[in-house]
Amino acid sequence: MIHSVYSNKDVFLRELVSNASDALDKLRLAALRDDTPDVDVTDLHIELDVDKEARTLTVRDNGIGMSYDEVTHLIGTIANSGTAKFLQELREAKDAAGADGLIGQFGVGFYSAFMVADEVTLVTRRAGEAQGTRWSSRGEGTYTLETVDEAPQGTSVTLHLKPADSENQLHDYTSEWKIKEIVKRYSDFITWPVRLLPKPAEDGGDPGEAETLNSMKALWARPRDEVSDDEYHELYKHISHDWREPLETIRLQAEGTFEYQALLFVPSHAPHDLFTQGYQRGVQLYVKRVFIMDDCEELLPPYLRFVKGVVDAQDLSLNVSREILQQDRHIRMIQRRLTKKVLATVKDLMASAPDRYATFWREFGAVLKEGLVTDSDNRDAILAASSFASTHDADEPTTLKSYVERMKDGQDAVYFMTGESRQSLENSPHMEAFRAKGVEVLLLTDAVDEVWADAVGEYEGKPLRSVAKGEIDLGGSEDEKTDAEKDQQGEEYAGLLGWMTEHLGEDVKEVRLSSRLTVSPACVVSDANELTPALENMYRAMGQ
Ligand code: ADP
Ligand code: MG
Repeated sequence: MIHSVYSNKDVFLRELVSNASDALDKLRLAALRDDTPDVDVTDLHIELDVDKEARTLTVRDNGIGMSYDEVTHLIGTIANSGTAKFLQELREAKDAAGADGLIGQFGVGFYSAFMVADEVTLVTRRAGEAQGTRWSSRGEGTYTLETVDEAPQGTSVTLHLKPADSENQLHDYTSEWKIKEIVKRYSDFITWPVRLLPKPAEDGGDPGEAETLNSMKALWARPRDEVSDDEYHELYKHISHDWREPLETIRLQAEGTFEYQALLFVPSHAPHDLFTQGYQRGVQLYVKRVFIMDDCEELLPPYLRFVKGVVDAQDLSLNVSREILQQDRHIRMIQRRLTKKVLATVKDLMASAPDRYATFWREFGAVLKEGLVTDSDNRDAILAASSFASTHDADEPTTLKSYVERMKDGQDAVYFMTGESRQSLENSPHMEAFRAKGVEVLLLTDAVDEVWADAVGEYEGKPLRSVAKGEIDLGGSEDEKTDAEKDQQGEEYAGLLGWMTEHLGEDVKEVRLSSRLTVSPACVVSDANELTPALENMYRAMGQ
């Protein structure tokens, strides 16, 4: 079943090298922080070891390793309930895109080894621990697990390759050129050496030196025109653990007193947990090419939490801690600059690549709009990059700018309505008068929409007004009535209004005549300044 997921089997090696690289990053960091004082970190590397006769390929690293419990949780569990669930959902996902999404969700990176291997054996010892762990599985949902006394620190993953596909030399993973080609293609930028061990010499003599296959050059430090889009995309996949191409790549080089490089990616799909508490946001922080941390939250505001990438700063201490980051004014400067750059990129997409912008907005619009509430400095830039469903067009969203350009003479506000779905909004009695008069209304259906319009208040001097709140005066027929006529109407209906007020009792504040309806006899309206329950919840969730 795993086979059908991957269009290209070669990527199993990318996944294993990527895991090894992460493990080396973690050990390096632990050493920097003196967490594992007794570990030798002078020659951190990844080794590839091919045995043609035995048809095995081993990926070995001397990184952080895993404890027995970690193997059980990180590797073992996928082989139990996780795999079952994964495989079941995979069968239900009809198209390739759906399957890709599942891989992202379940993180079967390690399990891609079973695309090319009948059996996988992993031996690992956590840095600083005495005992190692040996895990082995044939990928069919079961595995064996035991402790071992003799295990080098780090992790080695041995693949017992499937029988050679004689018709297709392209998939011979014992072939040296094949291995070199895959590493070059997918893992060139990995900052640790990936070494291919030499074949044992036939006469038993000196087999020669191991060959380093990757250039280890940080992509963000290389000139823009030397790096291909594919190379950027491979880096994205490595750091984001996403399987798909990113939607957009953003580069930024800052020179001067505080020098840094940033390489940011906008994914093409929102992760399923983007709106949950546990979502790990942030980009990777490097200091002078040395990996310092994943998920550095201080570099981007929460409403850009979908952005992935790398920031490499020249003048921070390698020992920099979360506490220091939170107070560092250079970090705040970087955050401001990155934020503006991302917003400008989205705005550019809108004009230059409407399809990609539409994808962006569908996936991340609801998150971006949180910034309208929380980041008043960038409010205009966020609005300029935002679009909204509108009664003007059934399919195409509009910008506020275009809305204002279409406003009729005498219309003095930008009208919107919030609710569950476009359909429920269109059927709302609140819309009747607007439809009758041909006044455009924005149809807002994200939870955050309840909040931002209030926070923003106006656009280019035009108030943003909910059609469901307060008194609405659209002009026209009502204006033609004289005050005397209105008074007379008021008297005429005074009895009915009084009767209704009495019967509705506590449930309403007031019953009044209105010109907002053309077909429905009555509707419920909020006070202009009242918080709806959804709004109160939202503010609380955003910590306001
Ligand atoms: P992901 O890399 O997306 O987390 P994987 O399936 O590739 O998912 O790996 C699962 C986990 O197993 C990793 O997050 C890591 O904690 C652990 N792991 C895998 N390979 C290694 C390794 N070589 N050294 C240490 N830990 C590893
Ligand atoms: Mg992985």
